[in-house]
Amino acid sequence: MNILLVEDNPTQSKLTSTILQRRGFEVDSAETLEQALKKLARPTFDAILLDLSLPDSDGINTFSRVHAITDIPVVVLSAQDDRDLALQAVRQGAQDYLIKGMLSTDSLIRCLQYSVERNRVENELRRGQERLRIIMDNSYDAFLSMNSDWEITGWNVQAQQTFGWTDKEAIGQSLDLIFPTHLKKQSLRSIEQQFLNNSNWNARTTRELLAIHKDGHDFPVEIGFFRIDAEPKPSYCAFLRDITKRIEYQEELEHLVQERTKSLTQKNEELRQFAKIASHDLQEPLKAVQGFVNLLEETANGNFDKDQKEFLGFIQDGTMRMQQLIKSVLIHSQIGNNSSENYTTDCNLVVEEVMADLAVSIKDTNTQFEVDWLPDINVEHSQMLQLFENLASNAIKYRSAKAPLIHFSAEESGDMWLFSVRDNGIGIDPEYKEKIFDMFSRLHGKTKYPGTGMGLAICKRIVTSHGGNIWVESKSGEGCIFLFTLPAIIAKTNAGAEK
Ligand code: ADP
Repeated sequence: MNILLVEDNPTQSKLTSTILQRRGFEVDSAETLEQALKKLARPTFDAILLDLSLPDSDGINTFSRVHAITDIPVVVLSAQDDRDLALQAVRQGAQDYLIKGMLSTDSLIRCLQYSVERNRVENELRRGQERLRIIMDNSYDAFLSMNSDWEITGWNVQAQQTFGWTDKEAIGQSLDLIFPTHLKKQSLRSIEQQFLNNSNWNARTTRELLAIHKDGHDFPVEIGFFRIDAEPKPSYCAFLRDITKRIEYQEELEHLVQERTKSLTQKNEELRQFAKIASHDLQEPLKAVQGFVNLLEETANGNFDKDQKEFLGFIQDGTMRMQQLIKSVLIHSQIGNNSSENYTTDCNLVVEEVMADLAVSIKDTNTQFEVDWLPDINVEHSQMLQLFENLASNAIKYRSAKAPLIHFSAEESGDMWLFSVRDNGIGIDPEYKEKIFDMFSRLHGKTKYPGTGMGLAICKRIVTSHGGNIWVESKSGEGCIFLFTLPAIIAKTNAGAEK
């Protein structure tokens, strides 16, 4: 350990340095304050033994001058047994106040060792506090600490910027300074209550409240409160953030979303109306064409030659196909228009109806059905019928050489039902498993498999308009499983209804 011994009395200096050197200390001496300050310019010492009465300085001033330029621990070694002076020195940061000649060698050594250690801990603590202060002053959030009576005890730089009050103005004030009184009482009560109910030593809670600025305007803040349970009373800390911009942004966003939704709903409705009117209007000339073709057939009374008959057949096929297309477009455009919450449809009955509707083709193709128990669902009956019927008729239409086997089932999946309609038909190449749900999308020519390419698009529209999803799992030649989800009916119990 390196000691700087500041002592103007040569005998005393010799005595002390010999004692210390014998115990393995390195000792450097200074006889005046000026000499001492010069030596301290090179901070190679672990401790300073300082006599307060020097030729060029006397009393507490000697200590103050030394302490001002170094954080090396200082032990005062004085000839005067002066209690007041000793207290003054210790209050200002001296590690100890020793009186010459009243001290054993061991006590002096121990005192020096303890001083060095104590000083190291104090310096660490100081550095920690300084770091904390820097962090707090650079925080983007305002920080304030409060005592158990909610009086402000700490106030960082951001708090000053957020609320307009300096730390000097704020510290010691009640929270009224930044919260309108009525609100403060209400919210503090609820915060206190929450803390009371929470036995965690560092209970936390967050709130959005209205705060007031020094200039009188109020603004929304988000506050994170926490309690520090220290004896004898707890204290509170809070980080606050001005959320004016965030709230303005949220309101703007909400407004924008509302506007967009309104305009989209309007556009959707316009499109729906357009599709409805267009389909109706298209049907008129089509019916006229069909009517005149029939009239032509009747008037010709079988006098058409082979070619003419064939051409007439093409016209009839074309108009029929056009009629189917228009009908499908109309159905597609009308889905998603009505809220289905008021409907409860028993899917088991729907499947029975599908079998009745498809009775002829079922009989012709020897189709077998396997139907597991199916749930009730909040979807309009006609839409469920359309959905199941499109899938079932496709299963029959796209059959393989085997007699069709169609399996209906459903299982619960969270708050949805997962339905599946499985067949043993020709299957679908995985490459097309998404495309087939597009409007007018067909994988085969109309001669082999008649159709409009609208069936699955209608299925998709029914499912997605109820918040579900539809997809297919299949490999070419291995049949298909069409899977779709629909929301489960939420049981309306008394408790639920009260909520
Ligand atoms: P459409 O049957 O009128 O052509 P869909 O929209 O119902 O129209 O089906 C689209 C296409 O998906 C069909 O053309 C067919 O290629 C394929 N597809 C649909 N269902 C099946 C199925 N069960 N098995 C094999 N292919 C199917």
